[in-house]
Amino acid sequence: MGHHYGDVLLQMIAHRLQNTDFGISATFARLGDTFVTVIYNDKLKEIKSDVIIEKIFSVFKQPFITEYQSVNLDINIGIAEYPKDGGDADTLIKSGYSALYAAKRIGINTYQYNTPSIKKLVIDEFKLQNQLYEALANDEFILHYQPIVNLKTGNITSVEALIRWQHPEKGLLLPGDFLAIAEQTNLINSIGEWVIQEVCRFINKYQFILPVSINISINQLNEVYDLTDYINKTLAQFNIKHELIQFEITENMMMYNIERISSILQNLKNQNFRILLDDFGTGFSSFSYLKYFYPDFIKIDKSFVQNVMHSTKDAAITRTIIRISHDLGSIVIAEGVEKIEQLRFLRNADCDAIQGYFISRPLPADHLIQFYSSNTKLKSTTVKSHLL
Ligand code: C2E
Ligand code: CA
Ligand code: CA
Repeated sequence: MGHHYGDVLLQMIAHRLQNTDFGISATFARLGDTFVTVIYNDKLKEIKSDVIIEKIFSVFKQPFITEYQSVNLDINIGIAEYPKDGGDADTLIKSGYSALYAAKRIGINTYQYNTPSIKKLVIDEFKLQNQLYEALANDEFILHYQPIVNLKTGNITSVEALIRWQHPEKGLLLPGDFLAIAEQTNLINSIGEWVIQEVCRFINKYQFILPVSINISINQLNEVYDLTDYINKTLAQFNIKHELIQFEITENMMMYNIERISSILQNLKNQNFRILLDDFGTGFSSFSYLKYFYPDFIKIDKSFVQNVMHSTKDAAITRTIIRISHDLGSIVIAEGVEKIEQLRFLRNADCDAIQGYFISRPLPADHLIQFYSSNTKLKSTTVKSHLL
């Protein structure tokens, strides 16, 4: 919203802080991207730091109303104590950063003290971050592919590419172990490019004829990076048709900047790429996004699918998502299908396709190819027999 808006907001915050009685002398300052509060708590026994922290949080509880609009600000606080966490300013600030990092990991509007375990967490993640850089250079990433099966025909209709990291010491790591760290750096764009290249190599090597779904992260759609350009270059290099590539974006990504993201997605759609809205139903206003953008596919989040047998609410939400998606002309895929009962429920609810351990776990490329050919060539196939 521009520097001017930021300045106005900072002035409002400063004003509120000045008018808050912390019961103790406190100095607030800006230090790069973060803010530092120095509290000279020589009355430590009388005023607990928790009380001061609560007061700082209370300053941000009410929205800030500027001439443009009202904004709610979320904050995180990391706490370091002198001399326990550092005898000089540099060390103390570093300890504060570690604690802040840990607080951010817990969620918005949280605070953390600096502890030995937090120190270890930060060091471990820093190490992992460095290893991630090397991982790209050393070709340690691999893609697994999970089949998606049409519920009416039993045929595999597409596959989703899911990244794994063959870590030299820790073994095979799942995205949950490293993607968040990659997102914090620019690495996510390089990893994203690697995924696109690897998918193209896969299609090209096996002359694969089904569409492959690629997960895209929000940072790959930022203003300065031209993802579409990279995709087009890579597809041309491997001589691959646009129809063979699908992009999965999570519903939550839409809320960052719905107009801009919708226009990037529409642009991809216009070039014959198909777009899938992932984790559907988990966001704040799932259905409202559909006013801005029609995805080709909607993927119902596994949290609903896994409860359809036990929760009448999740069953009702699942049925509703399927109905509305169909009304809007989207194809519905249910993810996380592990049990035959879930499959039957989804078929009765008119869901189009499923993905999940019940059909197959994500597989290395050569295993996926084997799985695919055994399910297309044989008469009584593994997948089809599940559907009888
Ligand atoms: P997602 O896109 O929602 O992918 C589905 C996740 O559910 C995958 O986890 C998959 O292994 C898992 N899954 C599939 N079937 C079942 C099932 O029947 N039961 C259960 N419990 N889980 C099932 P995975 O591979 O750990 O990936 C986690 C997330 O990481 C993905 O969630 C996606 O958001 C992200 N991700 C994966 N690969 C990439 C990538 O190449 N780029 C980006 N940006 N994100 C990726
Ligand atoms: Ca996905
Ligand atoms: Ca998902």
